[in-house]
Amino acid sequence: MSSKQSGSSEVQVDLTAPDLSPYRQGNTGVDYYHRFDSGQAGPTVMVNALTHGNEICGAIALDRLFKSGFRPARGSLLLGFANIAAYENFDPMNPGQSRYVDEDFNRLWSADVLDGPRQSLELTRARKIRPLIDETDLLLDIHSMSGNSPAMMLAGPLNKGVDFAKAVGYPGTTIIDSGHAAGVRLRDYRDFGDPSSKRNALLVECGQHWHRQTGDMAWTVLLAFLHATKLADSAFLDAQGFSAPPSDQKVVRVTDVVTVSSDSFTFSKPFQGMERIEKAGTVIGRDGSADVTTPYDDCALVMPSHAARKGQTAVRLGRVMP
Ligand SMILES: [Zn+2]
Repeated sequence: MSSKQSGSSEVQVDLTAPDLSPYRQGNTGVDYYHRFDSGQAGPTVMVNALTHGNEICGAIALDRLFKSGFRPARGSLLLGFANIAAYENFDPMNPGQSRYVDEDFNRLWSADVLDGPRQSLELTRARKIRPLIDETDLLLDIHSMSGNSPAMMLAGPLNKGVDFAKAVGYPGTTIIDSGHAAGVRLRDYRDFGDPSSKRNALLVECGQHWHRQTGDMAWTVLLAFLHATKLADSAFLDAQGFSAPPSDQKVVRVTDVVTVSSDSFTFSKPFQGMERIEKAGTVIGRDGSADVTTPYDDCALVMPSHAARKGQTAVRLGRVMP
């Protein structure tokens, strides 16, 4: 365990970043991506970790799955570590610095960007991984958060995503949202964002980046995902102590994305996420000289980012569905 002063708050790192060098040599033609084919009919399923290099819970969960000797009971399973270059910069004494190298890997997933002329370390990596994403029917992309928010599944804007999140069952909160002004997420790439396609994707935010329970949540969600996609049989799940999810999931529909428009954005309180603000018009922050207020009663704050800069998402605002 180690800790580091970061701004005004102490950052505690309880999780240990695993050595991923054994996974460098994959069998897919892309470093750090592996395929396990059951030889049986079924979907191509991908579990992706390290879309953000500092979000190490997914790497821990995949390392554990590799070491378990898991093999899919049907279809095929792709396991991979996306922004490995950023991850290699991970330093537990300065854990916030390794989200990406040149730019956010999770804002690149539109054809115009991927096929465009721009170059960056993350774009090069995304272009290599893209053919594997193109053959993926069902994707789980594992993330974590800067704030001490409850874990949540980001299901995208479509009903098919919400249905998929409900089938997985963990974590207890599902968010209906459409991403960021700054670019398209992997979760929303191509067919995943097409209501007529059976392809489907989920992004899970497992908790605060480096808390112990975030690592536990990543593992639970991974098992639940393998359960929902029927790649894991009950013998494997029982051996891992997996239990069926509770049935009372909360669903929050994001109605507004607050994108920073000035050079100074501050929240009025140290919001962590999933606070519910009772009254419409409550000031929650200040963007330059303008107050940021809640648009309706009982407004949920989804993933406030206290480090967001101009053009980035500061917070999403949502309604809790009945
Ligand atoms: Zn992330």
